[in-house]
Amino acid sequence: MGKTNRTPEARESRPVGRACLVEACGTAAAGPRPARMVLVELASSREPARWYCAGPCAVYGQALAEVRALPVGGER
Ligand SMILES: [Zn+2]
Repeated sequence: MGKTNRTPEARESRPVGRACLVEACGTAAAGPRPARMVLVELASSREPARWYCAGPCAVYGQALAEVRALPVGGER
């Protein structure tokens, strides 16, 4: 386990695991910005850029992106 040259994986598109009633919340940011949504993106994360509601959802999305930026193996 000496090698640390992990390459970025293909960006995942699994569920974000947050129940939100707003339809576009947590969707991959492929299209134009939905109303009231903010972009959450972390370059080093395996989590793709996503739209979230401004506020708690965006905070959640940021945390999720940070968790998924951790080396594989530390992720649960
Ligand atoms: Zn939301």
